[in-house]
Amino acid sequence: MSFQDVLEEVVADISAYRGQGKVAAYIPTLARADTSKLGVAAVLGDGKSHAVGDTDEAFSIQSVAYVFTLALALQHHKSALWNHVGREPAGSPVNSIIQLEMEKGRPRNPLTAAGSLVVCDQLIGRRSADEALEELLQFIRTCAGDDNIAVDETLAMSESKAGALNRSLAYFIAAFGNLQNPVEQVLSFYYRQCSIAMTCRQLARAALFLAFDGTDPVTGAQVTIPSRSRRINALMLTAGHYDNSGDFAFRVGLPGKSSVSGAIIAIAPGHGAVCTWSPGLNAAGTSLAGAMALERLVERTGWSIFV
Ligand code: GLN
Repeated sequence: MSFQDVLEEVVADISAYRGQGKVAAYIPTLARADTSKLGVAAVLGDGKSHAVGDTDEAFSIQSVAYVFTLALALQHHKSALWNHVGREPAGSPVNSIIQLEMEKGRPRNPLTAAGSLVVCDQLIGRRSADEALEELLQFIRTCAGDDNIAVDETLAMSESKAGALNRSLAYFIAAFGNLQNPVEQVLSFYYRQCSIAMTCRQLARAALFLAFDGTDPVTGAQVTIPSRSRRINALMLTAGHYDNSGDFAFRVGLPGKSSVSGAIIAIAPGHGAVCTWSPGLNAAGTSLAGAMALERLVERTGWSIFV
């Protein structure tokens, strides 16, 4: 059976989950998302992309962006980044503020909203938020092999207006002296990284280097060094899905990152990268149909990293 047939079977298998779950109502555009949408795209080591469903429709990548921002910030700061953010699973919701007070403004890990705010601040460094964002966009475009990827500025503005909680997180971190740039600069970068618009196909392609030890198997370019690529995968496995990370590792067994737009990237080391998109979320904010599709896909391919 061809890989394309496997993907088609997976999507047919889980069709009952389409339309289930809740959209992220706290973000204006996402509140209107159509929960019947479902796309599954995979790019394998030979560079071939396989896609079923709504894989050419763009959505905001939301917290999947945290992974790319982290990869870039680690390139700039190397292990010094860990002075500002931890690498333990949080076991709490994405926008949780509770641990920040106890841990004195050093977020648990870079894949929570608080952690990503710190990573964004570090990536901005002494530049303007606009300049740093241009670098991030260029990085993602190169990884995806597509120069047309851009930020949905209207969405970024609307989320920022509604973003009392993330603003609170940023001020709280700043109060502990763990932000070097003004809160509004950091938030401006943060919301625009979340509002980068991409399709399933583009996201799967952009994440491919993480399945091949940091090197893009198609172009041969080293995007990041092997040890860093492995560590990013380790963080995704332990913290990529908020307080749902253990369940995702248990069911799927691949490093991955979920976001509230319903996107999930999953990394199958040595095989390829997968992106699923379906806006209906479970209680923790992970796409219901997307996680089911990945669970079925791994059953059929034997791609679990625990084999
Ligand atoms: N922009 C969203 C937020 O900050 C991203 C969260 C997510 O995708 N989990 O709330």
